[in-house]
Amino acid sequence: YIALRLMQMTQNGVDKLENFVKFDSLTGVLTRHYFLESVRVRIGEGGLLFLVDADHFKAINDTYGHDVGDEALRVIGAALNMATPETALIGRIGGEEFAVFLPAVSTSDVTRHAEAIKQLIASRGETVGEHAVGLTVSIGVAEIGKGSTLTILMKEADENLYVAKRSGRNRYVFSRSDPGLKKPDLKAV
Ligand code: GH3
Ligand code: MG
Ligand code: MG
Repeated sequence: YIALRLMQMTQNGVDKLENFVKFDSLTGVLTRHYFLESVRVRIGEGGLLFLVDADHFKAINDTYGHDVGDEALRVIGAALNMATPETALIGRIGGEEFAVFLPAVSTSDVTRHAEAIKQLIASRGETVGEHAVGLTVSIGVAEIGKGSTLTILMKEADENLYVAKRSGRNRYVFSRSDPGLKKPDLKAV
């Protein structure tokens, strides 16, 4: 009985450790490391990557306090879960930056998904903990192209996120780019 009990306790510890590695304790979405490794494994399926960054988050913390900021991050995590299909991988990849990977989804679906994410966060984050926070996000989108790597994908999404921020926030930016066109395989010509 003691041996069995010890095995159960060990398994319990392993499960807890696994959860700790996989899931962000504040928001419940995947951790940065686990998200990125999961996307790396599945990148061959193609799809879309959305980088979702909270707007003026420093001001939210400064105005309403860190606890309200934390609650706003939970709102974002929950809204991302609700706004995306079951197949989506959702991660928190930085302090107030999240990422969504939608496998095997085409570019014709960018607007639908980006708007759903943007609007649900704006509506659920209008008030946070009874404060009129007016939470919004900016989104950079990238498509997995032929021969695309995780590094390229993240860089493209990040560049688009930067454009979304610079052009006024509370919006998404998607620019199509084909790495195959930028660097033609001369041997094949
Ligand atoms: P921008 O619209 O350009 O993204 O501006 P920003 O203020 O959101 O961006 P900035 O990078 O200047 O600030 C991010 C802030 O997010 C600063 C940091 O204190 C806060 N933050 C990061 N992680 C957490 C967290 O876990 N909880 C809380 N409450 N705040 C956090
Ligand atoms: Mg931000
Ligand atoms: Mg940020």
